[in-house]
Amino acid sequence: MSSRRITRNTAGELRNLAEKRIERLLKLAGEVFRQYPERADRYVELAWKIKTRYNVRLPSHLKRKFCRKCLSFWVPGFSCRVRLHSGRVNITCLRCGRVVRLPYRPRALSGKKRKAVNRSQLS
Ligand SMILES: [Zn+2]
Repeated sequence: MSSRRITRNTAGELRNLAEKRIERLLKLAGEVFRQYPERADRYVELAWKIKTRYNVRLPSHLKRKFCRKCLSFWVPGFSCRVRLHSGRVNITCLRCGRVVRLPYRPRALSGKKRKAVNRSQLS
């Protein structure tokens, strides 16, 4: 058997490594953003290349770190706008205008409040 063949197991290992690298790059991007915003964008570009190469699915905490369209690093108040709207986090990219809507779990309401919410939705 050829040693270069990528088995399912090694593919998983590579993906793990790729995910670690992506996380590290995005962390670095956050560290350098204030001084060198262009460098932060470059780190995002590299992270994106790794992501596409190894077919990694990004966890939601990484999805809100950069724009998939223009690959700019997102810092709320600087390069993106964050708003909460009907159970979702809406992130607007201030460079290209792309909007990403990620669901979040609203705080569990007490029984009374939940009834009140349901009633207001009916009317
Ligand atoms: Zn963008």
